[in-house]
Formats: sequence, structure tokens, C-alpha cells
Amino acid sequence: MLKRRIYLNGLLLILFAALIYGCSTGINLFSDKDEVALGDDLVQQILANPKEYPVNSGDAALKKYIQENIFNPILASPQVKKRNVYKYRIEIIRRDDVMNAFALPGGPVFVYTGLLKYLDSEAALAGVLAHEVAHIESRHATKRLSANYGVSLLLSLVLGQNPSALAEIATNLFVGLAFLANSRSDEDQADRLSVEYLKTTKYYPGGVKFFFEKMKSDGTVSSNSGKIATFLSTHPDPIERIAVVNQNLKGQGFKLLEFTSNDATLFKTAYTMNIKSRLK
Ligand SMILES: [Zn+2]
Repeated sequence: MLKRRIYLNGLLLILFAALIYGCSTGINLFSDKDEVALGDDLVQQILANPKEYPVNSGDAALKKYIQENIFNPILASPQVKKRNVYKYRIEIIRRDDVMNAFALPGGPVFVYTGLLKYLDSEAALAGVLAHEVAHIESRHATKRLSANYGVSLLLSLVLGQNPSALAEIATNLFVGLAFLANSRSDEDQADRLSVEYLKTTKYYPGGVKFFFEKMKSDGTVSSNSGKIATFLSTHPDPIERIAVVNQNLKGQGFKLLEFTSNDATLFKTAYTMNIKSRLK
């Protein structure tokens, strides 16, 4: 018994050392399989709450169009490494009062109709979707979780081999989906990767900034509108992000198009015909 306790104490010491090391270096305690399981669990909780998250209410044709024509070409980027590891898919939440999109660990990407109605081009939507894929590929949510939940997660996984630990964490997290708030550096990385992923598509690679540019131009950013309350509470200043994306585009020799541009690589007519027309 005593021997066992000494063994456990030793194990704990190693765990704590690993934990401190992990926190300072951003080590992720989740495996790819954990990512998918955690995402699935969160999806179940979203589907169980149809009032807050009315998912795919009669939007099958719209979802199919976005998945096949915009989302899949993004996933085909050589820089999306986990397209066969994670369960990438897109879901539409029919709520015109929310302008936002979010990603869950392991592949699910959710887009609100409020955002779809606000955007003007396929390039803008592709930019947002590529940004969400970047959060998943970079495992931003579970890296943050590893830092925040390190001790309890390690203890439950190692000491008890507690199979319900992930589900418990998912439940704790689900309240308000607050954990989706990303840090400034995670957002900048996702914006940067969004440009990379779009390079191999037919879309202008800087599409991710069009949403911010429009909000800046029409005053939505400073309006305190309820529609972007969730976006603003989970994202850093969109106006600052425009400058960072422009700097990246310029550095790579891309011309600086804006959301008002009529360049063919924005696919504005296609957006009206294939997406806006299905959002009545
Ligand atoms: Zn983000």
C-alpha cells in the first residue's frame, strides 16, 4: 500500500512537472481522436438545444452548395493536413440575428444565417470558413483547454483512466460556448492560414478581411448591435485585423482588393445566385 502511494506521489510529481512544462510551451494534452470525440460531444449538446441553435432547418440545398463548392476546395489545400483525420463538415444555424461562425475541435464548422446574409461574395465566405478550418487544424481550442484544465484532466486521465473525463469537460465548457473566445495571436494565425488555404482555390486569398471591412465601413463595429455581440466578445478588434491581413497580402505580392471591389475572384454574382437566393 505504502509502496503504491510512493509510486503515485512520484507519478504526480512527474505529471506536475510535465504540466508546468506543457503550459509554458503550449503542449496539447489531447490526441486527434480526443479532438474528434470532444467535437462530437459538443455537436450533440448543440443539437439538443434547437431553440438556441436551430441547425439545418430546411437548409439542405444551401449547405450542400457551400460544402461542395466552397468548403471542400478549402480542405483540398495542401496545407490542410488533417482533412482525413478530422471530420470536417459545415452546419448552418438559421438565426438571422447572429453574425458569427465558429469551429469545434475535430472538424465541425457552424455558420449563422445572419452572417451569410451580411456577406457579399463567395470569397468573403471562403475567407471566414478557411479561418475556422485554421482554428481546427491548429487545435487552438484544445491547446487553450490543456493550459486551463491541465491538472484535472491529467489526474482524471492518468489516475482513474476516467473515460467520462472528456464528456465532463465538454459539458463544463458548453455553457455559453465561452471557450470559443480565441486569443489575439490565435486569431492572427487563423487569419494568416486562411490566406494560405485560399491560395489554391479560385477565390481572392484575402477574403477573410471582407467581413471586417464591411463592418467598419457601415458602422456595424461601433454600433453595439446585438447581432455582433457574440462576435465581438469572442474575437479581437476586427479593425486591427484588417491591417494585419493587408500587410500579409502585400508582403506576398497580392493586390489589395476590398469588399467593395468587383474583381472576378470575389465571385459576387455567384454569391447572390447560389447563396443569397436560398436565404429568403
Ligand atoms: Zn477565429
